[in-house]
Amino acid sequence: MSNDLQSFYRHIAQTSDGPMGLEIDRAEECFLYTTDGKRYVDLISGIAVSSLGHRHPAVIDAIKKQVDKHLHVMVYGEFIQSPQSRLAKLLCDQLPEKLDRVYFVNSGTEANEGAIKLAKKYTGRHKLVAFHNSYHGDTHGSLSVTGRNIYRDPYEPLLPGVHFIDFNDAAGLKEIDDSTAAVIMEPIQGEGGIIPAEKNWLKAIRKRCDETGTLLIFDEIQTGFFRTGSLFAYQYYDVIPDILCLAKAMGGGMPIGAFVSSSEIFEVFKYEPPLNHVTTFGGHPVSCAAAHANLRVLLSQDFAEKALAIEKTARRILKGHGIVELRGRGAMLGLQLMNADLTAKVVKDCFSKGIILGWTLHSNSLIRIAPPLIIELEHLQEIFQRIMEAVIKHVN
Ligand code: PLP
Repeated sequence: MSNDLQSFYRHIAQTSDGPMGLEIDRAEECFLYTTDGKRYVDLISGIAVSSLGHRHPAVIDAIKKQVDKHLHVMVYGEFIQSPQSRLAKLLCDQLPEKLDRVYFVNSGTEANEGAIKLAKKYTGRHKLVAFHNSYHGDTHGSLSVTGRNIYRDPYEPLLPGVHFIDFNDAAGLKEIDDSTAAVIMEPIQGEGGIIPAEKNWLKAIRKRCDETGTLLIFDEIQTGFFRTGSLFAYQYYDVIPDILCLAKAMGGGMPIGAFVSSSEIFEVFKYEPPLNHVTTFGGHPVSCAAAHANLRVLLSQDFAEKALAIEKTARRILKGHGIVELRGRGAMLGLQLMNADLTAKVVKDCFSKGIILGWTLHSNSLIRIAPPLIIELEHLQEIFQRIMEAVIKHVN
């Protein structure tokens, strides 16, 4: 056993009894290389992160240039730092007029924490509406709006005033009322099992929020940056949120997140008291430089079409036998199999053949498929055929 391996099991806090345990040597494009000389194709992109693959040259170049200039200099919002300003401008240029101001953070859960605080302070209300089966992160605020009891129960009491309603069910809309600060939701539930919202239902939520003065928060932490066939999923739905939360694929492999809203809404962070929402490392210059390069590359090619081509390829091959359904949009797909046992066998079989697949947090009978958007379609077709072979082999 290598020293690193020993130390991993002895000193790194473990999050389950059965970590995948790959000892990573390096990663490049769609591949991970392990210290025992094996190569794995990454079909989950580090959980929807590496959309441009691993170590995209433009991202690496931007990181190196920034490292030669400066690292951390001052807590968020005090100094003018070019990587932050350039990234905020490029991002806002892609967004509707009312999403014109960005608050950078380090992760997805921090984006949601900030969005919840912003909505509470702006509306002066504290009731929140969230959804069964949702996932918004593991810090206390985000966990409070995460709709799965087994993850919540050990940490109760959580935030008071959170009301859960069913996803894609119009009956719950009456919960959104004049005392609601915000509705927080994923346009396509990720960890809940890749469940897309229905278009008309989402529009009805927007309408109900407008009627009641409730802010609509879209957690696009997993759906963002072309994963679902448009830069952001709200474009497909034609529903603009009041606050947009981002992270994961934003940094091209570097840690960064953001919550984006209007200048008017963000005013409340400036006063009573000043500095009521600050962060030391949020918007780190190296992460911002990487995210800027990442977004430029994403915008320079047709990744919207590529994500949809990935879905088309999957739908052509992944069907029949033990497959119940292929859900999702673009390159955010979930392969629902007959049961957990079959799913575990297929994931294990593919793993032994050098294909990294995974589950989603709330489902053990669904295989997550979220390849890097740069993957060659011919290569992907081969991989899907291998997955299909594994399903056929284990279904009986
Ligand atoms: N929101 C969604 C929809 C996510 O999928 C995740 C992570 O999987 C998060 C929030 C939390 O992001 P992070 O792990 O960066 O805190």
